[in-house]
Amino acid sequence: MKYSLNKVLVIGLGLIGGSFAKALKKRHLVDEVSGYDLNSAECELGLQLGVIDKQVTSLLDAVAEADLVMLAVPVKAMEQLLEAIAPALRPDTLVTDAGSTKMNIIAAAQRVFPTIPATFVPGHPIAGAEKSGVTAANADLFVRHKVILTPVPETDPLAVSLVAELWQSLGAEVLQMEPHRHDEVLAATSHLPHLLAFSLVDTLAHEEEKKDIFRYAAGGFRDFTRIAASDPVMWHDICQANRDALLDQIDQFTMGLSRLRQAIDTEDSQTLLGIFTRARIAREYFS
Ligand code: NAD
Repeated sequence: MKYSLNKVLVIGLGLIGGSFAKALKKRHLVDEVSGYDLNSAECELGLQLGVIDKQVTSLLDAVAEADLVMLAVPVKAMEQLLEAIAPALRPDTLVTDAGSTKMNIIAAAQRVFPTIPATFVPGHPIAGAEKSGVTAANADLFVRHKVILTPVPETDPLAVSLVAELWQSLGAEVLQMEPHRHDEVLAATSHLPHLLAFSLVDTLAHEEEKKDIFRYAAGGFRDFTRIAASDPVMWHDICQANRDALLDQIDQFTMGLSRLRQAIDTEDSQTLLGIFTRARIAREYFS
């Protein structure tokens, strides 16, 4: 198959879609970047801010014209969107996505298409922020960040190379991973930490008399809980989409926390010092 990359359509013009569009435009990598969003105000704003060249009114016409379609909507909105755009995709239209979970999006594609198109390259940029919406779009969001591509057996290797090169042109480092492995890894390194931050802040905040304690929060608390300001809908979707891997991580973490609790309760210094020392060495090793 011969592909071209002149016209890019970004569907979902929020933080990630907007940043992808803005990054392409800043580097003059394609001829035209158009944008579509359920919330047309986001697109109007995107046009005003120069994030996109063109606001799309007819989704199907825009898909039919696009050489590459980037799906940057919440993960649970992907299936409906794939269904909506499927009739307009040409055999050479590259389709990729930015969803934070991969197995559910691939399963959605399997339900929507009789055979997953060879041009479908599932992906996930490991870059983001607690902000959402097109006003938060940042043309350099992906610079020196990883992007994980999770091609399926049906995916054309040439399509993978083109999508990988596009991300590399935006400054990203591209890796490939099995979709299942991606979801396991991200459950541990991203989804669980977000849950811990949400849970800690909620636990402290939901009792009126405790709210006062945030006034005394120092840097460590702010660093640790920064991600609790992330978008609730996005995280609701991620928890449901990556249920099994996340439950596994929560169980392992709960056991770890119980070990700590027990060691504090029984004044078991050896266990406490062992856990803290191992964690410190591991943290120094990977940072
Ligand atoms: P966002 O809330 O900033 O933007 C999502 C946009 O999608 C919104 O403007 C919304 O109106 C639009 N939308 C929702 N359903 C739609 C539909 N059916 N058709 C068209 N538009 C629709 O969210 P975001 O942070 O940009 O996240 C987008 C995707 O990227 C999600 O799948 C998320 O999991 C993934 N992601 C997010 C981050 C992050 O840190 N925010 C990082 C990596 C990947």
